[in-house]
Formats: sequence, C-alpha cells, structure tokens
Amino acid sequence: MSVLDSRLAPVLDDLRERSLYRVRRSVDGAHGVQMRVDGRDCINFCSNDYLGLASDPRLAAAAMRALDRSGTGSSGSALISGYNTEHRALEEELAAFLGRPRVLLFSSGWAANVGVLKALLGRGDVVIADELNHASLIDGARASGADYQRVAHADVDGYRAALQRAALDGRFAMLVADGVFSMDGDVADLPALRQLTHQTGAALMIDDAHGLGVLGATGRGSAEHFGIEPDVLMATMGKSLGCAGGLVAGSETLIEYLVQRARTWVFSTAPPPAIAAAAREALRIIRSEPELRGRLLANIDRFVRGARDRGLPISERAVATPIQPVIVHEDARALRLSRELMERGYWVAAIRPPTVPRGTARLRITLSAAHDAAQIDGLLDALAQSLTVLDQVNP
Ligand SMILES: *Cc1c(COP(=O)(O)O)cnc(C)c1O
Repeated sequence: MSVLDSRLAPVLDDLRERSLYRVRRSVDGAHGVQMRVDGRDCINFCSNDYLGLASDPRLAAAAMRALDRSGTGSSGSALISGYNTEHRALEEELAAFLGRPRVLLFSSGWAANVGVLKALLGRGDVVIADELNHASLIDGARASGADYQRVAHADVDGYRAALQRAALDGRFAMLVADGVFSMDGDVADLPALRQLTHQTGAALMIDDAHGLGVLGATGRGSAEHFGIEPDVLMATMGKSLGCAGGLVAGSETLIEYLVQRARTWVFSTAPPPAIAAAAREALRIIRSEPELRGRLLANIDRFVRGARDRGLPISERAVATPIQPVIVHEDARALRLSRELMERGYWVAAIRPPTVPRGTARLRITLSAAHDAAQIDGLLDALAQSLTVLDQVNP
C-alpha cells in the first residue's frame, strides 16, 4: 500500500464499523419520481426536485435549443469569455422574479456561499451562524477569517446576544441562516432575524436553497413568505428549479462588489449556457403554473396527515415544507430502515453524521408536486411496516 493509502484505509475501516460509510446508488435515466436505481424500479422520496421540473421535457427542450445554438461549454469565466446572453437573460429574469435589483449566477450553491462569505467578511468581522446551517455556509464563514459565532438552532435570544456584543465592540456583523433548514424542514424566524439585524446595525444573509420555488404566495421563497428582505439572498437552481447552479440576489452595489471580489466566481468557468436556458424555462413554468406549487402543498398536507393518522414519528418542527424527517437517532437503524423501504420499492436515503448532528440519524423524506396520492399513501404504509419490522428485530 502507498504511504497515502495506508493513511486513508484505517479511516475508511472505522467509518464502516460505525455505520457511517457512504456509497452511491446510480440512477439509470431521468431523476424523476419513478426511477430505475441500481437495476430496480422504485419511487423516489429523497430528491430535492420539489416541483418535478428536473425531468420535465420542456426544460430539456429549452436546453437542447440552447445546445444547438451555443454548444456545450462556456469556454471561460464570466469576466473573460464565458458570459452568454442566456446567463444575462436568466440573471435579469431572476432579479425581476425575486424583486431585487440584481442577481449573479454561480456554478453551484456551494460556490455561491463560499464566494460570498469570503468576499464580504474578513478578520475583525463577526459572523453569527445557526448551528444547523448548511455545510457550505459553515465552510465559507470559517474560510473568511471572521470571528465565527455558532448559535443554538433557532435561538433568537442567542442571536440577539451575539449581535449586541458585536455592536458594542463596534464590529461589522452578519447573521447567516438557512431560510428552510435542509435536514429538518423547519423555517427560520426571518421577521425576528430581520428586526434584530436592523436594531443592531448588522447585515442578514439567507440561504434559501429549499425555499425558492416552494414558499411564498408566488414561490419567491421564505423572504416572500414572511415579507422581509435580507441583504444577501442566496439560492440554488439545483433544487426546485430542476437544473444546477447557484444564485445571489441583492443590491447593485452588492452584486458589483461580488463581481470584483468573489473568488469562486471570478476564477471559475461560467456554467454552460444551456443550463441557464433550462433554468429560464423552469422560472417561466414556476411563474405561469402556480398549480404546481399547489400540488406540492397538497402532497405535503396528505403526507403529514397520513403520518399522524398512522402514528408515525415525523418531526413536529417541519410543517408546510417538503422536507419531512423521520428521526431514528442511531445510524445503523437509519440504514436498516432505508433498506426496508427499498425492499418495498421506496427510495429514501439514510442521513447520518456529519450531515446531521450525532444521535439524530434520520430518513429525510421529501415530497414533490410530481408524486400522486397513491404513491404517498404507499410510502406511509411501507414506513409503518418497516418500523414494525425493525422493532421486532431490535426492540
Ligand atoms: C444544496 C444546498 C446548497 C448547495 O447548493 P448546490 O447548488 O447543491 O451546490 C447550499 N445551501 C443549502 C441550504 C443547500 O441545501
């Protein structure tokens, strides 16, 4: 074994022993609700494709038209040769949709969060972060060199105390939180966060990866749901938009600053124009077909009611979001439950540390507008049966 491999192999062995080893399953064909996974058919209940747009033929057609015109690659970063009229049009349409002056596209949501936090914060500044924030927010904030203050989940008093300390010290502070927490499905108290940041002269950044297209009267996300405006609104096009790529919305000054300073944007190849074309089509559908979101909300409601009727241990925190975790605590139990469901034809991946805190392993069930009532009821029955089987084997 090479020097490197002999350093790595024991770590892998340890992960296997602790039920924390991860493997991929490969999907053959489209990533919709009915899938073929590792050679077997199943119903998918663990994607982030909340509106069913990832396999919508209209998006594929829009991408193919753009592929014909523009080819595959963008050939460079946006500042050199990579910026296409498809990118420009998508930025303008997203800005109009979100009601903000400007939008900037990144190659992923991960790149957006890391690029923004490193550009906006530095030594001497304070970043105040919810403990359940997405990994990309944690990495970006830590890499910025700012003083990282982690606050207990949804602890408004904790945010207030940290913001007041920063204000007293005369330091620039930014409060950063997910709009919809990705593994728990609960919604941040944005009115309280906005009020606290205004009172203490701090900035507010919201990661709305799971709110965009889902929450708010017209799908503009958690900011629309609460009627507030964060200073920095970040989201991804890889979830409800069914495409790929990150976006940041904000003031003219913010976006121009990022164009000069966000290193993950400046030094990275612009996304393929065809992906921007597909995202434009997704946005057009979201705006013109509100019934899609209506179907999603009806499906969430059916799932939550059905779970309560069957006495299933769904989380109390998640109410009207498509993320519905079943927290089973032990990592091995989460894996076994996921396998039992797969046996019954339902795909729900087990989520274990470090994606979630230790002792909170779970099945993260996600609903989509593309599910039908029979699929949801089938999942609920399979979940009840699987939990019974697990309790018999290991009460
Ligand atoms: C998925 C996700 C991201 C990362 O976005 P990608 O486009 O997948 O890189 C960032 N924040 C949250 C909350 C997410 O769920």
